[in-house]
Amino acid sequence: MKYYSLHHNSPQVSFREAVINGIAPDRGLYFPQEIRPLPPSFFEKIGAYDEQEIAFSAIRQFVGADIPEDELRTILGQVLDFEFPLVAIEEGVATLELFHGPTMAFKDVGARFMARCLGYFSGDRKKEVTVLVATSGDTGGAVANGFLGVPGVQVVILYPRGKVSEIQERQLTTLGRNISALEVEGTFDDCQRMVKQAFLDADLKQHTTLTSANSINVARWLPQMFYFLFAYRQAADQGKELVFSVPSGNFGNICAGMVAQRLGMPVTHFIASTNINDTVPRFMQQGHYDPRPSLSTISNAMDVGDPSNFDRIRHLFDDDFQALANHLTAYSFTDKETRKAILHIYQHSGYVADPHGAVGYLGVKKYQETHPHTYGIFLETAHPIKFLDVVEPVLGKKLEIPPQIQKVMDGKKVSTPIATYDELQSFLASPAR
Ligand SMILES: *Cc1c(COP(=O)(O)O)cnc(C)c1O
Repeated sequence: MKYYSLHHNSPQVSFREAVINGIAPDRGLYFPQEIRPLPPSFFEKIGAYDEQEIAFSAIRQFVGADIPEDELRTILGQVLDFEFPLVAIEEGVATLELFHGPTMAFKDVGARFMARCLGYFSGDRKKEVTVLVATSGDTGGAVANGFLGVPGVQVVILYPRGKVSEIQERQLTTLGRNISALEVEGTFDDCQRMVKQAFLDADLKQHTTLTSANSINVARWLPQMFYFLFAYRQAADQGKELVFSVPSGNFGNICAGMVAQRLGMPVTHFIASTNINDTVPRFMQQGHYDPRPSLSTISNAMDVGDPSNFDRIRHLFDDDFQALANHLTAYSFTDKETRKAILHIYQHSGYVADPHGAVGYLGVKKYQETHPHTYGIFLETAHPIKFLDVVEPVLGKKLEIPPQIQKVMDGKKVSTPIATYDELQSFLASPAR
């Protein structure tokens, strides 16, 4: 499988190069040359396949010959070693829990898959690869965990000092080994600026192979289609039209769901549920794209004002607004509505949702006002414990700390404070790290 750049100004590359490059030289996102549907019998018989078989069938064509079949199966076995249960919430509404992985965020699957692909590809390279990533919270932990101990790969994570939760900070500073955490005196935007500068730094590139691990990387983006297929497998016998509501920030997850649809999954409509960072809901109303600086909310993993993966979504529909509108509805919700939803879900169903899942729930309910006969599935993208400072006061009760989280809370924090790009550069250049 070849990948081209959405800016159409770079050579086509194989999966291997797309993973190592992260982004194309013309700064465009990579996109697969074709998406071949799976046979209809695959979806008719999906209940007979286990998760690894489903994942293998879905991802095989996108990896192509770059990873041999048995190696790809081994990787998927390691990546998918936890549950993805569909939990009924109320009549016609269910949630797909994506938080049973090691860092309790849905980003675990993509981060682990990318780590193992990169580990496989660096086996035949002389030079180490350095993964450089800026995080506002959840990405850092999933990436640190996914890449821990992968040979030939060094990971450097930049996070804004005092602006991530304690649990999130522990998840990225206590692992050690090939994972380094840089505590930046500044905001998330400052972290991201430094990372971008490093990617453009010709001096640095002479002695370091840098790649990024955010959702623009095809190896982090594409495995997210598994979730939709796993949910379909569990809900196919509902006898109602299925619709997915995806709490969205950078729009990688929902875009992967749309790729699953292109594989032939019989689900035709998606709901993008956002917080007040409503660039896409405004686009779906007005038809023109008008990005804005991001605003802080209680669903902070979705605080994105200019979602990079929306380019891929528009491209999937050949930039035809009407075609896209036939398959996508987008809604935005305030923090106040989100808190109310967390309380409502708990009081009516006894279910504790995190702020991101609650935004997804609101999207399902709003869509069902006009489409009452659908079966709505919202994705629960993080465990509520990761947002306990929001959830506990709303519910007026304490949440139990799961063992994965307790383990990192007991670890020792190690980080290097930096304030300027020069400090990042000398850190990356230092042979001792
Ligand atoms: C990253 C994240 C999202 C947003 O996913 P996108 O693919 O960026 O749209 C939603 N919820 C949680 C908890 C996340 O960490």
